[in-house]
Amino acid sequence: MVDQHMLIREIKEYANSNNIPIMLDDGINFLTTFILKHHVRHVLEIGSAIGYSAIMMALVDPNITVTTVERDEKRYLEALKNIKKFKLEDRITLIYDDAFNVDLGDDEYDLIFIDAAKAQNIRFFEKFESNLIRGGYIITDNLKFHGLVEKDEDEIKSRDLRGLVRKIKKYISYLKDNKQYDTEFYDVGDGISVSCKK
Ligand code: SAH
Ligand code: MG
Repeated sequence: MVDQHMLIREIKEYANSNNIPIMLDDGINFLTTFILKHHVRHVLEIGSAIGYSAIMMALVDPNITVTTVERDEKRYLEALKNIKKFKLEDRITLIYDDAFNVDLGDDEYDLIFIDAAKAQNIRFFEKFESNLIRGGYIITDNLKFHGLVEKDEDEIKSRDLRGLVRKIKKYISYLKDNKQYDTEFYDVGDGISVSCKK
């Protein structure tokens, strides 16, 4: 039986050497602790990459199921392999598609984890919030965007990056103004928000 820690280390090394932006250590600790504390059972994740965060969430408790969506074929295939290595095929459902094409019908989740294209956060939020139960949570990663969100705009030289930073700021305001949710922001990992559906 291969050691789980070893497999996790291999996944993290693969992510590092292939420039795949998986969650940072303190971010993943925050997420898994949150899941444990709030007895989360059914997670929807937007942005699987190679399956790292989905696997880490599923490992919190044997009753947890994760549905996760990835549009990049290479990453999807790698995620499939990784999920198999952990024998989590029956608890992690991996969907290979653009999240905007995915219809989850009336499936219900108690946590939606948004960790995909940073400019699209509002659209992801609004597309999937109908699948979130009352009292459920939407957690979003990368709200600091490597510290760029806190910088003055004229310090950011690239026009594309400035646009992206503006969209992240817009999402932060959107969360603050959204009266159907209580949102808290956490300075862990690359910046995380937790929005509870009232
Ligand atoms: N949650 C992962 C990291 C995800 S990285 C982890 O921490 O282990 C973000 C991923 O989102 C990328 O692999 C990217 O291909 C995917 N992505 C971005 N926009 C998407 C979309 N619209 N639909 C599906 N996947 C998307
Ligand atoms: Mg992320």
